Amino acid sequence: DVVIEMHGVWKVYPNGVEALRGIDVRVEPGEFVYVVGPSGAGKSSFIKLMYREEKPDHGVVLVNGVNVKRVRDWKIPHVRRKIGIVFQDYKLLPNMTAFENVKFAMEAVEAPKRKMKARVEEVLELVGLSDRIHAKPNQLSGGEQQRVSIARAIVNNPSLVIADEPTGNLDPENSWDIMYLLEEINNRGTTVVMATHNKEIVNTLRQRVIAIEQGLIVRDELGGEYGYED
Ligand code: ADP
Ligand code: ADP
Repeated sequence: DVVIEMHGVWKVYPNGVEALRGIDVRVEPGEFVYVVGPSGAGKSSFIKLMYREEKPDHGVVLVNGVNVKRVRDWKIPHVRRKIGIVFQDYKLLPNMTAFENVKFAMEAVEAPKRKMKARVEEVLELVGLSDRIHAKPNQLSGGEQQRVSIARAIVNNPSLVIADEPTGNLDPENSWDIMYLLEEINNRGTTVVMATHNKEIVNTLRQRVIAIEQGLIVRDELGGEYGYED
């Protein structure tokens, strides 16, 4: 029961850009993985394959054992039930409160209605937002919005949380708070894959580091370093 498996994976965009050029990787249950590398190296493409935002042009991507290339569009929500996604820009629905944003993610997977309220309150408490549950995104700080998005990502008990530059828009204090949340989620058994440019975080909270350059994995180390100057 490998969480992510890629064999000989290429991603070639319609404009001819070869974003990934033969990726082989395995991510096991419970791992915490940083994905690092220069801008344009292929990090987002690598991550998008994991939640079936993109399909591989060659090779095989298995997510929880499911070959994502074979998944029909209408079945994508089924694949994503087991995945929580956190974005740099939060992507909360602006007209919904924190509570409603998180509940919406439960409704999307048709969770039992009578369990929703308690579960939504529970995850918002876990991220430290019990007193802000009725605020809308524009009434929340960036750090608070990212905590709502983490609550949304974990509400359905995913086996995998994918975060694409989750601290990219946050100041250092809020960035560390988000990292402690992601570590706690990982400590509870959820696999975390996180693309980041945050050197200090990677070099402090040591985890597996996968470095991508020009569409290839050039380094893959347990307890690795960030390895770039930026
Ligand atoms: P990173 O996340 O490391 O910055 P990306 O995966 O976003 O890298 O991009 C890798 C390469 O693919 C870059 O050259 C980028 O311009 C290109 N690219 C990314 N998305 C698209 C797209 N939708 N269409 C065409 N080219 C793309
Ligand atoms: P689109 O296909 O239009 O890009 P999606 O249906 O993928 O949109 O997602 C709709 C909204 O739900 C987006 O704002 C996205 O950020 C969010 N979302 C989708 N999947 C997940 C997930 N597994 N966890 C958390 N948020 C998600």
